[in-house]
Amino acid sequence: MKLELNIKDKATWLSKEKPFIIAGPCSVESPEQVLATAKALAVNAKISALRGGIWKPRTRPNSFEGMGEEALPWLKEAGKAVGLPVATEVAKAEHVEACLKNDIDILWIGARTTVNPFSVQEIADALKGVDMPVFVKNPITPDLNLWLGALERINAAGIQQLGAIHRGFSSFDKTSYRNAPMWELPIELKLMCPNLPILCDPSHIAGNIDLLFGVMQKAMDMEMDGLMVESHIDPSVAMSDAEQQIDPSAFEEMINNLHFRTTASSNQEFKANLEQLRTVIDEIDEELIRKLALRMGVIGKIGDYKKQNDVTILQIERWEQIVKNRTMLAGESGLSNEFIKKLLELIHQESIRIQTEVMNK
Ligand code: PEP
Ligand code: MN
Repeated sequence: MKLELNIKDKATWLSKEKPFIIAGPCSVESPEQVLATAKALAVNAKISALRGGIWKPRTRPNSFEGMGEEALPWLKEAGKAVGLPVATEVAKAEHVEACLKNDIDILWIGARTTVNPFSVQEIADALKGVDMPVFVKNPITPDLNLWLGALERINAAGIQQLGAIHRGFSSFDKTSYRNAPMWELPIELKLMCPNLPILCDPSHIAGNIDLLFGVMQKAMDMEMDGLMVESHIDPSVAMSDAEQQIDPSAFEEMINNLHFRTTASSNQEFKANLEQLRTVIDEIDEELIRKLALRMGVIGKIGDYKKQNDVTILQIERWEQIVKNRTMLAGESGLSNEFIKKLLELIHQESIRIQTEVMNK
């Protein structure tokens, strides 16, 4: 399915050179803090825009909720001093109005707002007749439709300089990331709207400095159009998200170490080899699908058999034995434990679905 968005060609409003980098503090804390950060970032890291949070949506009350409207001019002045457009997060119509009054150049909608269609619509209404770049962060939950819906609402208000930001998702599985990247979701979004620019926010995915570079590089390898990174002149005293903010010089080093690969190569030998390997993949996939279909056919027969003999669908010992035995086999073949477990779970779910259908016939 394709998503029909009426947007401007990204080449006309995102920086020509990839990647488009928005960097700056999680929160604007003082005129001095945002200016010092802006100067350090602009000189060395060659960023495209300066970010700074003004209103901070906090999970629990009584934590720092941002400096509010009075900090908008601090952000704008810092941007002016280094010749950069400035970006901030809006969560309601009032925020949009205050940003317009203070000449803020770029807006984004945060993850906690994207989940709420009422809030998104309120922001969209406040943006009617306005022509400026707006980015929509993915919702906290891994729900592509909420993300699409928010993009559609903002676009329907007339915003054509539209982009998305991938900042990872809350998940029950404990991972080393603050927010699980689930790359398949931004990839699905890219497939649905190939013209929509997508930035990656590695800071909120990683949640700490150690994982930051890996996510930045992965984003570049996933053909993302740019990055939004939290950078603070002195992260140790940051009033929000201290663990994940990076100081400008370390950030510069990371940017310089990024490896930019191209999507295509004109090297003929490379092309021929790639083509050959892809043919092999096509054949393997075909075989996998036929085998899966065969497996599901047998599953159906077993279902029939169980029904005739009044036996339950799930026999937990059999399932445990399958997982144990297949995981071992997969390990011997060099496949990861996590991968094979996920795959088996999917296969098992489908098998149960088929047998339930047989039972209810
Ligand atoms: C932020 O960018 O500071 C922020 C609050 O991000 P998110 O909406 O992704 O949590
Ligand atoms: Mn933050």
